[in-house]
Amino acid sequence: MTIRIAIVGLGKIARDQHLPAIAKDPRFELAAVASRSAGVDGVPHFTDLAELLASDVAFDAVALCTPPQVRHTIARLAIDAGKHVMLEKPPGATLSEVEDLKAAAAAKGVTLQTTWHSRYATAVAPAQAWLAGKTLQSVQINWKEDVRVWHPGQTWIWQAGGLGVFDPGINALSIATVILPAFFLEKATLHVPENCQSPVEAQLSFVTVTGAPVRAEFDFLQTGPQSWDIIVQTDGGELKLSHGGSRLWVDGELKHEGPDEEYPGLYAAFAELIEAGASDVDVSPLRHVADAFLLGERVIAPAFIE
Ligand code: NAP
Repeated sequence: MTIRIAIVGLGKIARDQHLPAIAKDPRFELAAVASRSAGVDGVPHFTDLAELLASDVAFDAVALCTPPQVRHTIARLAIDAGKHVMLEKPPGATLSEVEDLKAAAAAKGVTLQTTWHSRYATAVAPAQAWLAGKTLQSVQINWKEDVRVWHPGQTWIWQAGGLGVFDPGINALSIATVILPAFFLEKATLHVPENCQSPVEAQLSFVTVTGAPVRAEFDFLQTGPQSWDIIVQTDGGELKLSHGGSRLWVDGELKHEGPDEEYPGLYAAFAELIEAGASDVDVSPLRHVADAFLLGERVIAPAFIE
């Protein structure tokens, strides 16, 4: 089976990860690109999905690589046209939107996939296996990066629905929601620049159902060494997932590292879902972000000037 796939939104993640992952997976063929600004050599190009759907280009699936604020409208158009849909993270601007897409995909009999790429980082599954059966004592999440380096010119991140520092922070939450028992937010502080709508920094205090504290620090202004780390204290020692989930350390000793296979993993899972006629819709990381926006105290931070 060849899945003819179209990309909608040819920005950083589409170029860095989706195009190479599609090229590498023999189950997929890039059928078209819908982009307001650019195309891919040799591939049919349309301004947007509506124009592509009105054309005679045949395709089976779409990967939506736009900012989250416009994801639902485009996803609903694709589902209603009978296309399988891969949603970049976060899967929508609101939880209700994703529920609507889930119901629409089920009614139409197409596959819907909410992608959480960090869950496919090479050390996440080994971390999950190591933690199984151990008693958690505490968890510290440090997700600190320089927005000017990693998200240059991405003004949508600072607008309502853009998530600010939760755009990377949700990746940490996507890992935490698969390696930890259920956890709930107790307190949060969100630092919002005076000229923006979304936070540049956040401190979050959760507790697991088993009573272990989970503390998260998200920072978008980290210069120098960057950190994408989750440190878990247990009755069997300390586990550390570093480099966004690609290295696993136990009591300070490196136990696992491997190549970056996050997006190939996502595409393999998408192909399997389509083959099985199934969907995978998980909003748990986005729900924690929504909780932080519901419960968090706002602090006004200095203006962000790129
Ligand atoms: P980006 O570089 O700003 O690209 C987004 C693209 O979406 C733009 O280039 C544009 O493509 C299209 N777009 C922008 N505004 C739009 C609008 N109002 N309506 C329709 N299309 C619009 O952003 P990105 O970093 O690729 O991120 C896109 C999504 O991927 C985000 O949800 C982000 O969280 C996720 N993601 C990003 C990364 C990363 O490292 N950057 C990693 C994982 C996931 P055209 O000009 O082609 O239309």
